[in-house]
Amino acid sequence: MDLHKVYPVNKRRVVALDGVDLSVEQGEVYGVVGQSGAGKSTLLRCVNLLERPTSGRVAVDGRDLTALGSADLRRARRRIGMVHQHFALLSSRTVAGNIAFPLENAGVPRRRRTARVAELLDLVGLGDKAKAHPAQLSGGQKQRVGIARALASDPAVLLSDEATSALDPDTTESILELLRDLNRELGLTILLITHEMDVIKRICDSAAIMESGAFLESGKVLDLIATPGSRLASSLFPLPRTDAPDAVSVTYPRAYDEPLMSELTRRFGVDVNILAGAVEQVAGTSVGRLNVQIQGERREGALRFLTDKGLLVQEAGR
Ligand code: ADP
Ligand code: MG
Repeated sequence: MDLHKVYPVNKRRVVALDGVDLSVEQGEVYGVVGQSGAGKSTLLRCVNLLERPTSGRVAVDGRDLTALGSADLRRARRRIGMVHQHFALLSSRTVAGNIAFPLENAGVPRRRRTARVAELLDLVGLGDKAKAHPAQLSGGQKQRVGIARALASDPAVLLSDEATSALDPDTTESILELLRDLNRELGLTILLITHEMDVIKRICDSAAIMESGAFLESGKVLDLIATPGSRLASSLFPLPRTDAPDAVSVTYPRAYDEPLMSELTRRFGVDVNILAGAVEQVAGTSVGRLNVQIQGERREGALRFLTDKGLLVQEAGR
């Protein structure tokens, strides 16, 4: 979609999006990670056209939103739910009232509204909180209300702007689990933005690293891990740099049953010294990286053996 967004700020031009191509597959969880100011929120607001891109096209659920008139756009937006970092709940309304709000706007009759709200409360695990007010809820419960409200119009896509950034680690975990469950059970496509690599690790199938309005890399998380020089992989496995002689970094892009390192020493007679390592559960599989010193006459053959086995062998410290 080659999105560009330029904000005019006091006669200066702030380029918030500088040619972003984002393509999210139906039914996947896609995470965009980047530091503050990278343009993540702008990107998300362009996806539901709360913000008009300066140039580029936005298609959601098969429809080109940029080409729609305002009435059609309003209808198309109902297929897109949005969850906010600071919940954005109406404090004067009950939990049920907050979730009913978008349904009222869409003109859903009262009876259907009440049934739908009860359903949504159950879905997010707040069946007993219908009559509570937001001030009586914990952060995690507030975000559950935010998610239920976003799902009220039965969207095909859920956008999440730092949904867990205001939450403590345990609560973050439970909200991420809820998002993952919704993705699996409802087939809900989720596009989330975050500054936390942990979020990518826990629930994302695909990811992009964003900096200065552009993607540095993007794709399936497991493919990125297997890509030489991947920034995502190095932040996933933050191993200490090493200048030990003959050191290499070996990345396992999937779980292996075979004891590769002992086979290596047996077959090639090399010495293997493990300097550092990390294993992570990512996209439902175990992946890892080892920094190892491999020494011996048949070192080259040993490295080729690892590469042939599908491991990624790079200079250590990269
Ligand atoms: P992130 O969500 O990654 O922190 P943003 O999308 O909020 O990044 O911001 C990207 C850049 O665009 C920043 O330089 C920010 O100051 C600028 N920006 C964002 N929104 C506006 C706006 N409404 N008007 C002017 N500049 C903006
Ligand atoms: Mg932001």
